[in-house]
Amino acid sequence: MVKCSFCDKPAVYINRVNNLAYCRQHFTEYFEKKVKKTIRKYRMLGKRENIVVAVSGGKDSMALLYFLWKLSKKNPGWSVSALIIDEGIKNYREYTIRNFLRVNEILKVPYRIASFKEYFGMTLDEMVEEGKKKGLPYLPCAYCGVFRRYLINKVAREMGATVVATAHNMDDVVQTFIMNLAKDTLEKLARSGPVTGVARHEKFVRRIKPFIEVTEKETTIYAILNGLIEPEYYKCPYAEYNIRFKIRKLLNELEEVQPGVKQGLLNSMLGIIESLNSRIKAEEIKTCEICGEPSSHRVCRACQFRMELGLLPRVSFELRREKPAL
Ligand code: SF4
Ligand SMILES: [Zn+2]
Ligand SMILES: [Zn+2]
Repeated sequence: MVKCSFCDKPAVYINRVNNLAYCRQHFTEYFEKKVKKTIRKYRMLGKRENIVVAVSGGKDSMALLYFLWKLSKKNPGWSVSALIIDEGIKNYREYTIRNFLRVNEILKVPYRIASFKEYFGMTLDEMVEEGKKKGLPYLPCAYCGVFRRYLINKVAREMGATVVATAHNMDDVVQTFIMNLAKDTLEKLARSGPVTGVARHEKFVRRIKPFIEVTEKETTIYAILNGLIEPEYYKCPYAEYNIRFKIRKLLNELEEVQPGVKQGLLNSMLGIIESLNSRIKAEEIKTCEICGEPSSHRVCRACQFRMELGLLPRVSFELRREKPAL
């Protein structure tokens, strides 16, 4: 049995980068201290905030909700609420939402469930079927990512959010970095930084990633230690279409052979974002001519998809097509 490096108790986690072992109590202290430091370093939260946590009900977002809920007890100027996006993925999302509701019996944070069906008229499963019938080139994760980001911003704004917190951890961000390199879409890197959406458009709600400096493994242990995940693991049925999971496997193998690879990639990514910053900031954010939401084109990606799926009447002007998401 490996013992904690700070006391005699059994270790629940060994950090292979600094070679330290942590018991339950010392792991919690280590994890929470690290996330608080990230929040301070990137000035993520001010004295008065209406924090809306984007929650899927999975381990990462439940860990973030729990962490911010706990921290808000010591910060009277903060309110914490949850926004759950229900894409409509059968045999998957209903279980994670059930997990959120179970944990929220204790946390009792105000919440809102916004579904694709309610806002767009179709579940993700129906969009995938419709896309196939129409011979559209997009994979499920392209619809999922675009519509989810759209709804998080729109509904969080409706909820009066001053800031949206998402549970992206170091692994997620590094995977996105590699995907952007592979797709030659480095300009999208700005979205992967610790704080995004700052004053770029009046309808953009600032987004923060408090877990950007902790790994998926650390977040999972924090979630397990606090009873935030259901014993059964549910995987999205569309995961096989997402190249992210292949990159995740590869990065975990590399980290196993050479601990610290993910941290190195994160540092490189943050350095690139900083040097790209002046150019990215200069880019004009437009307002979608159909729905009025912030967009990098005349018509936002969500409205482009809605038109292609027959959920909106097609407009007459020429739309700029983007490459399908990987
Ligand atoms: S795997 Fe794809 S479809 Fe499933 S939740 Fe993730 S992004 Fe959405
Ligand atoms: Zn200890
Ligand atoms: Zn639009």
